[in-house]
This record gives sequence, structure tokens and C-alpha cells, in this order.
Amino acid sequence: MLENKTAIITGAGSGIGRSATKLFSKYGAKVIGIDIAEENLKETFSEVEKGWYFKCDISKREEIDKFVNEIKNRNEKVDILVNNAGITRDTLILRMKDEDFDIVYKINLRGAFILTREIVKLMIKQKEGVIINIASIAGLVGNPGQVNYASTKGAIVAFTKSLAKELGSRNIRCVAIAPGFIQTRLTDKLPEEVKNRYFENIPLKRFGKPEEVAELIAFLASDKASYITGTTVVIDGGLSGI
Ligand code: NAP
Repeated sequence: MLENKTAIITGAGSGIGRSATKLFSKYGAKVIGIDIAEENLKETFSEVEKGWYFKCDISKREEIDKFVNEIKNRNEKVDILVNNAGITRDTLILRMKDEDFDIVYKINLRGAFILTREIVKLMIKQKEGVIINIASIAGLVGNPGQVNYASTKGAIVAFTKSLAKELGSRNIRCVAIAPGFIQTRLTDKLPEEVKNRYFENIPLKRFGKPEEVAELIAFLASDKASYITGTTVVIDGGLSGI
């Protein structure tokens, strides 16, 4: 499905990013993975056929610049960018520190913005490209204890819509994905009774798997989704009802 495509995936060291990296490779893509944790990247790429990885903290402008220079030096044609890296710093607003707010914005929104701007320059020259942004249903319906995280994800949805309108005439698509609860380190930490309470509200009665989100990313990034842009696709087992 992704033969002859080159894709950059951020947060490739674990969870959804790791699954997407392996699946893209299985579907024939060359994958360039970035993450803050080099050891985790190494592990992900032990199962990747074509591609390379680069340690990069997307909250740091100079590290993004280094990565983009590497892309240019290697003369890569980037067909797909998956903005997946993201963090949470959950707490109720009364306890939320300025730093809890700033770091989530710096990674989830500003990091995605800077990297996208640089990669879009290449895509415009190539006259084609696809950008997939990983949002969250928290950005669509809100979630207590997540005013910082949810607002970055709501912003990513609006970022996606605006970019799709800006770049459609350049043959560049831009799509967001809004997962519900997905079985990763993030949700593994939850106590059993809390998980069971969540399951009650999910029509499919379970959390999603990173592999299920990866399949959606691969489809939306592929030419099979050639008329889809500007929208947000929800993958949440029916939880939000959207
Ligand atoms: P994850 O397992 O924590 O994966 C995120 C990856 O991003 C980690 O490898 C992490 O590295 C990396 N990362 C963190 N900060 C970074 C930075 N500054 N620069 C580069 N890489 C960085 O989380 P996940 O659950 O797969 O989440 C992936 C995306 O899906 C996120 O955008 C998240 O908001 C979204 N999402 C997840 C869920 C869910 O239920 N899991 C639901 C909705 C949306 P470290 O391991 O070193 O931190």
C-alpha cells in the first residue's frame, strides 16, 4: 500500500508511533523515525526494512533544524509526515503549573508546527505530500484534568483544517486522527478498576490497540485516501459518539 513512499514518523520509539513505523515498513514504505529516546528508536528499527532513525527532541528548535538538515543532506523525498509525538501532564486546573501547560504546548503543538513548516517546503517543491496529525477525542469533547493536553489537541484539529485549505491547491493533503483510549504506556498505568469503569462507557468494551490506529494512519497516508483532506477521523470504539 505504501511502496515507493518515504514517511517521517515522530514519536517512533513507542506506542502508536512504533506500531505505525513497523506497519509502514510492512506496507513497503521507507520510514524515517524520530524520537527523544534513542534506545527506543533502535528497538523499533530492529524490525524495519528500509529507513533510518534520528534522535530529536521536537520541543527544541535547534534539534528540529539538525534533523531537517539531515533530510536535506540525504536528499530525501518526503511523501508523508506523521506528527505523532505527544505528551500529557494531567492535573486539575487549580493545580496545573505554568510549566505543565508550556511543555505540553511546546511538544504537542509548537513542535508539530515547526516540523510541518519545514517539511511542507520540501512537499511544495515536490508538488505532492500528505500530513497526518495525531489529535485525540479529548480535543473534540474535552476531558477533566487535561485542559493543557485537550486544548493542544483541539488546536491540532484546527491546524489540520487550516493547512488543508492552504495546501490543497499544491496537491498536499492534511488529515487528523482522534483516538480514544489506546492500549499504550499511557493507559497501562491506570488501575484495573479505573480501566473497568472506562470500559463500561466504550461500546466496544475495550481499549483500542496501537496496531488499529496504525492501520488507519497507513490508509489515510496512502493513495487510497486521495480525496480525504481537512477532516478528523475518530477511532475510539464508539466512546465519544462522534
Ligand atoms: P507514547 O507511547 O508515550 O509515545 C509517544 C512517543 O513520543 C514516545 O516515544 C515519546 O518518547 C516521544 N516523545 C515525547 N516527547 C518527545 C519530544 N519532545 N520529541 C520527540 N519525541 C518525543 O504515547 P502514545 O500513546 O503512542 O501517543 C502517541 C500520540 O497519540 C500522542 O500524540 C498522543 O497524544 C496521541 N493519543 C494517544 C492516546 C492513547 O490512549 N494512548 C489517545 C489519544 C491520542 P518518551 O518515551 O521518551 O517519552
